[in-house]
Amino acid sequence: MEISDIKILNYCEEHSSEESDALKALNRFTHANVLQSRMLSGHLQGRVLSMISHMIKPEYVLEIGTYTGYSAICLAEGLSEKGKLITIDINPELEDVIVSHIEKAGFAGKIQFIVGDAYQIIRTLPYEYDLVFIDADKLSYAKYYNQVLEKLKPGGFILVDNVLWSGKVVDEKELAKDKDTISLHAFNEMVMNDSRVEKVLIPIRDGLYLIRKIA
Ligand code: SAH
Ligand code: CA
Repeated sequence: MEISDIKILNYCEEHSSEESDALKALNRFTHANVLQSRMLSGHLQGRVLSMISHMIKPEYVLEIGTYTGYSAICLAEGLSEKGKLITIDINPELEDVIVSHIEKAGFAGKIQFIVGDAYQIIRTLPYEYDLVFIDADKLSYAKYYNQVLEKLKPGGFILVDNVLWSGKVVDEKELAKDKDTISLHAFNEMVMNDSRVEKVLIPIRDGLYLIRKIA
């Protein structure tokens, strides 16, 4: 199921700021050379992440699920002057791609990439976050959410990607058999019933949940 009409999406992209040259190059490189390139956030969602980050001007940002680093760079665009973004991925193979593109984008001193299992890494990090982007293995979303909520400043934000899962979360057949769909739907219900947060689920791209920790 398509969440948005392709014509509408194209129109939205045509009326949104362009990606930086470095992001354009990373987008192109990923599609040409890396498996599962549809995981990359892309132009429109990237501009949304950048805009949200600019609105928050965060000091500490945590990203769970780097892939080739596209969304990390978008989120880093809005960091405060002293700000820092930590991004974690379990896949060590993309490290060179990530590090070189972060440097080309001018964020070498701002973005720290850590290889490993996110849950294990996050436990060891000393930071309190203004903004967290959850975008790794879908079966672990609830685990990450509960973990990072503890490490989120009061009034801080969590963004969670792919929560509509190509529309499968409203498809009874998928809800009866597909593990990721079942897990994502349960996650969405859990967030909805969590009185510690305010939330709005936006049907952009594959569904983006915006969550604010109530002070
Ligand atoms: N945020 C990226 C896309 C991330 S794709 C963007 O928008 O461009 C999801 C990533 O999660 C993959 O690169 C995968 O390797 C990573 N991942 C899967 N399980 C993980 C885990 N347990 N810990 C950290 N990263 C994980
Ligand atoms: Ca994603």
